[in-house]
Amino acid sequence: MKRFVALLAMTTALSASAQDKPFAIAIHGGSGTITRATLTPEREAAYRAVLTEALEAGRKVLAANGTSLDAVVAAVKIMEDSPLFNAGKGAVFTHEGTNEMDASIMDGIGRRAGAVAGVTVIRNPIEAARAVMDKSRHVMMAGKGAELFAKDQGLAIVDPKYFWTQERWDQLQKAKERDRIQLDHDAPRKTAALEEDEKFGTVGAVALDRAGNLAAATSTGGLTNKRFGRVGDSPIVGAGTWAENESVAVSATGTGEMFIRGVAAYDIAARVKYKGATPQQAADDALATVKSLGGRGGVIVLDRSGNAVFSFTTEGMYRGVAKGETKPEVLIYR
Ligand code: ASP
Repeated sequence: MKRFVALLAMTTALSASAQDKPFAIAIHGGSGTITRATLTPEREAAYRAVLTEALEAGRKVLAANGTSLDAVVAAVKIMEDSPLFNAGKGAVFTHEGTNEMDASIMDGIGRRAGAVAGVTVIRNPIEAARAVMDKSRHVMMAGKGAELFAKDQGLAIVDPKYFWTQERWDQLQKAKERDRIQLDHDAPRKTAALEEDEKFGTVGAVALDRAGNLAAATSTGGLTNKRFGRVGDSPIVGAGTWAENESVAVSATGTGEMFIRGVAAYDIAARVKYKGATPQQAADDALATVKSLGGRGGVIVLDRSGNAVFSFTTEGMYRGVAKGETKPEVLIYR
């Protein structure tokens, strides 16, 4: 009896202290040429609504003493299910007119990680990445093998048609047309025009739970008009995603090739860990490296005190943060 009372007192004390611990979630829905001029008020409202919903979903998990891993999955799933973002439903098309998705997740405890690449029938690729981390002895699985594994794990499998959206289809036709023009005319002018139209709709989340653990998740359809089989930074641990309790949690969006070559997400964590850089300085510097390689995009970074920072080299980035019980904040423009 005495033991029971002591245990009860301990649990109550523990949960009381857990209640005081900070928790936070930050998300992004991609970066690119996003300006007030390119976004109608209706579309802006639609983006804000889904971003807020994703933040609330993640926050709910954290407020109920859930894990940061569960929180990032909850937030990313909402954006994957929305056709507005280039992940899950609404994923961009490959040159061949297919949708090939990549996703990854990382646990701040012990650098556990899971990823899938080039999947075409998994409704929520982020859940498959999580399953690879939790239920397999691997870190990354690709294509058919990843899909079979996801099916075995009981995840939702859909017809590839599920991912088809008119808007992404039109984007592919436009991109192909630009490529055709490029063949006929001068390349430099064309490259500038392409850049202007570039949008990265990848989604990602970073979270800190009340137990003090960080997590990060990223999900994408990749780049419009990519060659089939191409894999970007989003499923690459250290490039598009990183989380370790000793430093920070990071999720990136942008020209994947340069984020891979810049080892961008890990670069940010390493700058914080080894150089003592602030997360903002680390993020800005890592993106400067990506820029020097010819890439552009943005990152969200969360530290163990629950401070979120954003950095991007594009005109805008869909992003948001919810810290503790305070009202979630959603931002789009610079
Ligand atoms: N980083 C993604 C990729 O290269 C694209 C994006 O962020 O939208 O696959």
